[in-house]
Amino acid sequence: MAEMLAQGAVIGILGGGQLGRMLSVAAARLGFVSHIYEPGANPPAGQVADRVTTAAYDDADALKAFADAVDVITYEFENIPTEALDILEAHRPIRPGREALRVSQDRLTEKTFLQELGLKTAPFADIADLNSLNTAIEQIGTPAILKTRRFGYDGKGQARLRKPEDAEAALADMAGAPAILEGFVEFSHEVSIIAARGLDGQVACFDPGENVHRDGILRTTTIPARLSPAQRTDAILLAANILNALEYVGVMGVELFVTPGGLIVNEIAPRVHNSGHWTQNGCAVDQFEQHIRAVAGWPLGDGQRHSDVVMENLIGDDMDRVPELARERDVALHLYGKAEVKAGRKMGHFNRIKR
Ligand code: AMP
Repeated sequence: MAEMLAQGAVIGILGGGQLGRMLSVAAARLGFVSHIYEPGANPPAGQVADRVTTAAYDDADALKAFADAVDVITYEFENIPTEALDILEAHRPIRPGREALRVSQDRLTEKTFLQELGLKTAPFADIADLNSLNTAIEQIGTPAILKTRRFGYDGKGQARLRKPEDAEAALADMAGAPAILEGFVEFSHEVSIIAARGLDGQVACFDPGENVHRDGILRTTTIPARLSPAQRTDAILLAANILNALEYVGVMGVELFVTPGGLIVNEIAPRVHNSGHWTQNGCAVDQFEQHIRAVAGWPLGDGQRHSDVVMENLIGDDMDRVPELARERDVALHLYGKAEVKAGRKMGHFNRIKR
């Protein structure tokens, strides 16, 4: 049995957004202390965490002091600078580990890794310039999507190519950043599976959820997803395959396209995931507690759901719906304490339990 962190141990969390906030709450419920590291002032997680370090990711002294003050380090986002990770790792374990970050920080590395595992992805090619883009279009065809290799999220850093003549304009959208071209997948719907692996190698998956995006941002996750029993099993097996290959510790989100030819992996996120928020009101142990359990060396919850749930994000002005939602039976609100409402900003979400 792996060593379990004891009550009062300090969980260091890189990033103070809503995911860091909900991880802090879960840590507190298990008797741990959370310590957030976040460059921005007044982070949502700061309202619920025990401690906050406000410092940049290139502040070596602050990173060292943070690492010395915690027992284990985890994170709510994958784009942590490598130099910061080097400093932190010299002091404390980082869970999930560096390999998961290396693979998921770069779409080209990620897709290559998934293919080497024998999993299906969209056809893809590395794009350095207009020449390589034109060659890739000849091989992959259109429609296609050009994506920056790094730092893309919520559909940002992407350009669609409807026809080969769109190449130049799409490349200009990348603003000189390295990119990959992906063939357009004709999917019927999108699902994701939230999976966890413990320090002792135990794997547990939550039920796959069906996701609807608008303007590149997740709007709803519906549980259960429309999947055949074989597809459901496939989703679980492929997630376990990914976690084991990375010797992963923690929760991961795996986004999948459902096609007549089977499941195609879109991307992996080495962290708790927006499409796993339904677990807060659908499972005994939700994804946040599951993640804290894993990084603390505890046994995992089994991931089974007790209720069907629809999760809906509250984005920007959707916050106007809160008074009405608060009156509804079967609706659990999760608000992030963000002072300023901005268009496209995730302000909260709610889980509607289906009875
Ligand atoms: P991503 O940032 O890669 O998750 O992409 C955001 C959204 O764009 C996905 O959830 C899909 O709806 C769509 N998308 C991304 N890649 C593809 C693809 N290769 N084929 C079809 N749709 C895609």
